Amino acid sequence: MSNSFNQDQSARRFKKRTKALQPITDLVEGVRSGNRRDLARAITLIESNSQDHFQHGQELLKELTPYTGSSIRIGITGVPGAGKSTFIETFGESLCEQGYKVAVLAVDPSSTVTGGSILGDKTRMENLSRNQNAFVRPSPSGGVLGGVHRKTRETMLLCEAAGYDIILVETVGVGQSEVIVRGMVDFFMLLVITGAGDELQGMKKGIMELADLIVVNKADGANLPAAQKTRREYKSILHFLQPATKGWETQAVTCSSLHGQGIGDIWETITRFEKNTKDSGAFVERRKTQTKEWLHSMISDRVLNSFFQNPDIKNNFPDIESEVIAGNKTASQAVEALMSLYQK
Ligand code: GDP
Repeated sequence: MSNSFNQDQSARRFKKRTKALQPITDLVEGVRSGNRRDLARAITLIESNSQDHFQHGQELLKELTPYTGSSIRIGITGVPGAGKSTFIETFGESLCEQGYKVAVLAVDPSSTVTGGSILGDKTRMENLSRNQNAFVRPSPSGGVLGGVHRKTRETMLLCEAAGYDIILVETVGVGQSEVIVRGMVDFFMLLVITGAGDELQGMKKGIMELADLIVVNKADGANLPAAQKTRREYKSILHFLQPATKGWETQAVTCSSLHGQGIGDIWETITRFEKNTKDSGAFVERRKTQTKEWLHSMISDRVLNSFFQNPDIKNNFPDIESEVIAGNKTASQAVEALMSLYQK
């Protein structure tokens, strides 16, 4: 009995494994034909921390790379409660209605630290998830933010190969996540709301300088005049800031994600941005810079990882670190000592 149970189990494991490692040509075709199940499977491969899944995923990505790059990539950030998921649902559905294929991805920094999630689970954007023209994928969880970054960027490429015209990457303003998302998109949008009146002082200038568009959401009902006032305040502050994109003046608009007002204008602004920056060359220039920075950051991650995984470093690092903290060694001396161990 236990023997047949074991056999059943190993048969199931085998089936599961062969299913996960579906022949690459089938998966390439599946993704290319826009099959959402194959796309999800392909993303699972590149997200996997298992070495053979990862290799398989990278081979797949290599096959699909010629079909990537033709979407417009849009980043969306805002504090929790600003209305990001409501906005994405309304905006995404309106784009699907116009015949576009829309993919929604997320970079949730909290998932890397606590395993929990600020952005929330799969139940968000339920209507959009059901739309045949949409694909909604929650943030990859676990690992370091660098890992989430790689996974999201590669997922974006897979979605492009699957024919998605518009990629929305959602994040929340914690730590480095906004800078990371800005580094992978063409257009970056900051969603804000009116608050106690001092929200502008609390707003980090750095984040405003990443944005191509500031959207004051919840401009409806009794909140409409306050939202319009907030928009004007943002507009006047923007004059003193560095624009995020060469040749594009950062805009500030109002919208109601709940009632759909202003949503069409936002899409119109994005298409104008795309046209202007493509005409000026800024669009292509940014993509090239992003690819270069991407390569550099992958190398840094890999080298850093290899350094800290080195057995000699692992054995000696705690003592050397303590000596630096105690003031018995300078940081430079410690680096010299560690590097000679590493290069041995
Ligand atoms: P997120 O945390 O940024 O994703 O925010 P949610 O989309 O979950 O929205 C937070 C709350 O604000 C929800 O109760 C929404 O119904 C509400 N909300 C979002 N957009 C609007 C809007 O345009 N107008 C109004 N009145 N409420 C909104």
